Amino acid sequence: MITLDGVSKRYVTKNGTVDALVDVSLDVDQGDVYGIIGFSGAGKSTLLRMVNQLETPDAGTVNVNGQDLTAMSPRELRRQRRDIGMVFQQFNLLETKTVYRNVAMPLLIQGASKAEIDRRVDEVLKIVELEDKRNASIRQLSGGQKQRVGIARALTTQPSILLCDEATSALDPKTTESILALLKKVNREMGVTILLITHQMHVIQRICTKVAVMEAGRIVERGNVLDVFTRP
Ligand code: ADP
Ligand code: ADP
Repeated sequence: MITLDGVSKRYVTKNGTVDALVDVSLDVDQGDVYGIIGFSGAGKSTLLRMVNQLETPDAGTVNVNGQDLTAMSPRELRRQRRDIGMVFQQFNLLETKTVYRNVAMPLLIQGASKAEIDRRVDEVLKIVELEDKRNASIRQLSGGQKQRVGIARALTTQPSILLCDEATSALDPKTTESILALLKKVNREMGVTILLITHQMHVIQRICTKVAVMEAGRIVERGNVLDVFTRP
């Protein structure tokens, strides 16, 4: 479903070069909850951003649903991105706007009809259990509620893949648990494949089926969660 093959990425800064990804290959199958874990600076964000081509590789290919994203025209890429939802650590919501407006945004950008947008917003708010907050301003919400809005927004275009960038790192333990339970529900009941990055081991243990461990731009260990963490 997602295949990275020999992907490398080097950043050039005024202080020299950084090899953020070094010959990274990764296979995520349909239905996986795939976790990438590693310390800050290991290359996790760069890897995640390869999957929706917010970063382009210096070498290697990125395939999603059998299509090579690195060879796509901007127009094809825009269409492909509708199939990939993204959830952020700091939510990235429009704080002064309503829940409705935030969740509707991806469909507004696509030019969907008002009726279609209303129907879809109601559907996803039900999934994240925020129907009663439809007209609330984002400012009035708790962190956990904001992340539910972030997840709802990511689901409005009915993506088959959800990318989660430290989605629970800004939340307290109890709220983290409820967001992880929601992500698991989205995976199980809607069949959405999830690729997440985290520096928190308990996130991997709670919801992931597979894991890759990153260090200095490389995947140094990978496999089923149970196997990787019980190896001697
Ligand atoms: P992680 O998500 O694991 O913290 P990142 O992918 O953000 O790791 O970063 C990997 C390395 O690449 C780090 O050394 C980081 O400072 C560097 N890096 C990331 N993005 C940029 C950028 N836009 N320009 C320069 N260096 C970057
Ligand atoms: P993360 O928490 O995912 O590691 P950072 O806070 O390191 O993210 O980076 C935030 C943003 O700054 C990202 O878009 C990343 O690409 C960029 N960035 C990270 N490191 C550098 C760097 N050394 N030089 C320039 N941009 C960077």
